[in-house]
Amino acid sequence: MIEKKRIAILGSTGSIGTQTMDVLDSIEAKPVALTTNRNIKLLEQQARQWQPECVTAFDETAAKDLKIMLGDTDIRVLGGMDGLMEAASLPTAEVTVTAVVGMAGLLPTMAAIEAGHDIALANKETLVCAGSLVTAAARQKGVRLLPVDSEHSAIFQCVQAAQGNRIAKIILTASGGPFFGKTAAELENVTVEQALKHPNWSMGAKITIDSATMFNKGLELIEAMWLYDMPPEDIEIVIHRQSIIHSLIEFVDGAVLAQLDLPDMRLPIQYALTYPVRLPCKMERLDLAKIGHLSFYPPDEQAFPALRIARQAAARKGNAGAVMNGANEAAVALFLERKISFLDIPRLVGQAMDSLPYQQIFSIDDVLASDCAARQAVYTQI
Ligand code: NAD
Ligand code: MG
Repeated sequence: MIEKKRIAILGSTGSIGTQTMDVLDSIEAKPVALTTNRNIKLLEQQARQWQPECVTAFDETAAKDLKIMLGDTDIRVLGGMDGLMEAASLPTAEVTVTAVVGMAGLLPTMAAIEAGHDIALANKETLVCAGSLVTAAARQKGVRLLPVDSEHSAIFQCVQAAQGNRIAKIILTASGGPFFGKTAAELENVTVEQALKHPNWSMGAKITIDSATMFNKGLELIEAMWLYDMPPEDIEIVIHRQSIIHSLIEFVDGAVLAQLDLPDMRLPIQYALTYPVRLPCKMERLDLAKIGHLSFYPPDEQAFPALRIARQAAARKGNAGAVMNGANEAAVALFLERKISFLDIPRLVGQAMDSLPYQQIFSIDDVLASDCAARQAVYTQI
């Protein structure tokens, strides 16, 4: 029997957050901190059910309302970035699940590492922006970065079989999203609604748009580079429409290992929280005969320039990841507000990358400055 794990869940009201709440019973874990941006109705329900020590609403107005709503309980209610960082680094937690979306996850992730917590890492933007600082801090504190992203979890699971042997190549699979097979011309007029219709996964809006532009796979390339200390040229991307093979590794002798299951995030979430132990997971089992066939295609970098831009950022390192990510977050928000077109997203990110100076990153402040400059570069173009 494994010990009952005390966990902080940042972004407990989101797609990954609610699926994390869904596995708590099966893994006998107890949440000690839960957070949201402003979905206080759901956070109140979660808090009443699970009785954490503290809850945080990032939005200060929402935090004030939540304090009133939970006035009859002993649960501490916090607000803002300070509240998020406090929830991330609660001394009673052993592991922090980073399921907030975007750069907002960086400071709380660093706070959790500083507090010595293992990180169940869903928030890939953190590694994209500040991979060198985050991995160095984790090494220094002796904490583990346990991947939640399905591809990185697949690699992590395959790596268990490596027994110290060098991994020659990582092969990241990508579903191709809703616009697989379309040409650049056909992508010119796609709508927000079409972009939000992912064929295989139900996720938050930002990552769903990232999947449509393929920036998600670009972010994941950089995430894999930092998590597995792999040169980006040894990370290949292949389109696999069914999202059954979640990723693969290749050894020096040419042997390739893959991890397969149905597209359901509860397995990678659960494995990050129970590793190295495996426990039953309440998801449907894989039936290969029912699936029939698996298909693979090379990615189309003409129609989806995000992959090329991400490879550039991965090769440059320094502030390039923060610039790419900041520009992408700003552009995705503008697209969701219907202020720019779908193809403006890679166009604006590419322009930000070209126009902003390359810098080395020495501190989190450097990362925040590059993020801010990238967002400004996008806003001045529209
Ligand atoms: P989501 O939008 O469904 O949920 C985001 C959560 O973060 C919510 O609880 C929201 O209230 C909170 N939040 C949003 N903005 C915030 C801010 N500024 N400050 C504090 N909290 C904030 O997103 P999601 O799909 O669950 O994705 C979360 C992270 O996990 C992303 O980084 C995403 O790339 C990654 N991820 C998601 C999936 C998936 O299947 N959803 C898979 C792999 C990786
Ligand atoms: Mg993924």
